[in-house]
Amino acid sequence: MTDFPNLIDGEWTMGDEQLPNINPSDITDVVGMSARSGIEDMGRAIDAAHDAAEGWRYSTPQQRFDVLDAIGTEILARREELGRLLSREEGKTLPEGIGEAARAGQIFKFFAGECLRQQGDSLASVRPGIEVEVRREPLGVIGLITPWNFPIAIPAWKIAPALAYGNAVVLKAAELVPGSAWALADIIDRSGLPKGVFNLVNGRGSLVGNHMINHPKVAAISFTGSVETGRGIAQACAMNMKKVQLEMGGKNPMVVLDDADLETAVGACVNSGFFSTGQRCTASSRIIVTEGIHDRFVDAVSNAVSALKVGHALDAGTQVGPVINGNQLAKDLDYVKIGREEGAELVCGGERLDLEHDGFYMSPALFIGTRNEMRINREEIFGPVASVIKAADYDEALALANDTDFGLSAGICTSSLKFASDFKAKSQAGMVMVNLPTAGVDYHVPFGGRKGSSYGSREQGRYAAEFYTTVKTAYIQP
Ligand code: NAD
Repeated sequence: MTDFPNLIDGEWTMGDEQLPNINPSDITDVVGMSARSGIEDMGRAIDAAHDAAEGWRYSTPQQRFDVLDAIGTEILARREELGRLLSREEGKTLPEGIGEAARAGQIFKFFAGECLRQQGDSLASVRPGIEVEVRREPLGVIGLITPWNFPIAIPAWKIAPALAYGNAVVLKAAELVPGSAWALADIIDRSGLPKGVFNLVNGRGSLVGNHMINHPKVAAISFTGSVETGRGIAQACAMNMKKVQLEMGGKNPMVVLDDADLETAVGACVNSGFFSTGQRCTASSRIIVTEGIHDRFVDAVSNAVSALKVGHALDAGTQVGPVINGNQLAKDLDYVKIGREEGAELVCGGERLDLEHDGFYMSPALFIGTRNEMRINREEIFGPVASVIKAADYDEALALANDTDFGLSAGICTSSLKFASDFKAKSQAGMVMVNLPTAGVDYHVPFGGRKGSSYGSREQGRYAAEFYTTVKTAYIQP
């Protein structure tokens, strides 16, 4: 068994309490013991970051490049081992875990490059003899709060830009997946980054997370997680006048039109609905299908969903791993019950599975004959549950796709350029996919949504600079 301590001012500590990290594929497998800090540890980490921020602010682009490049290199070299730890504690399949670890490495490499590609402008003034300079400066200490479903990629896509643009960091990772956060902190600790610039403090969100969002030395909060938590964080940040960025839930639509290639549409819906056990903010849980293809599509997709192999995340051949924990499994099964009570027809899955290992297994569930007003189509379930909604034509499908409180990702399967272009223009989501799953994005371009899914500026790619820097305009009369 491994310890997953916190990193505060360059020192490893196990905190006030410890928490077992349980493998959701096999609850008899305790992955390790994680530190559970209290507010004193959080306070020390913020003080350390605040003290170290001044030095890192004035580090050279070369120093920053070297640190981020070293972190990216080590993650990529150890992707299999890191991916295995991730899959063991989170439950996504091993190829998904390795893929996520690799992505974290690529993100650090991307932002290493950004350290050298600085942004700024030098302009002529409207007044004679004066020069104007617009430059980006770091904010100071950034507090990062992350969810359990991408245990290494989400911390990476917040830490890398924060450091690249010269900020100090305190990360509060999700308590269900402390191993990946610890492994990442260990790599960062050995990268040559001065002590105190990066700190990890795991503990209860309502305690240490809450202390972080209200702390006067924290300049900004970047949060990914549920809408409910995000709303509270936005309120606290507004009261404290902190910069804030929130990435939250989704109820992402996938439109399948009569002229879609059936195989492409089925593949995209199975991938975005059920891979990673449906536990992705970009998962498509509403499949909106036009009448002409509806019956053929339902036949093909229900066969494909029933054939998915559910099993231990680390077993070869597993396509869908377990749900993260008992609470989430109970919630998923409850939504299956709610869907049936609302009059939806369950064509496959939706049952608790007893497999060789004692884990949180459930068969992927597909509803048909659903209406967009049903709770299963309005509320984020965050599990392997998707529903089909029939639409008369493209116009109705588009209206249904946009009729949601969320707006993260939206997909369309069609061979028509006209409908694809129209959907791209009129979708009310932050990301649009044509003939592709709604989940699965690149790391060098912006990520984020609209409406209830996101708040504040975009994450990732060059757009990350908007959140992690503040602009200064300097006037100079030589
Ligand atoms: P959550 O909101 O329960 O927790 C997220 C983080 O917030 C955790 O680290 C938690 O400890 C912390 N937290 C909880 N209460 C807090 C408080 N009062 N103050 C400060 N921090 C607090 O979410 P979760 O269950 O870990 O993750 C699942 C959710 O994340 C889903 O809704 C999913 O859609 C969303 N998500 C969104 C994206 C995106 O980019 N849009 C990506 C992944 C996950």
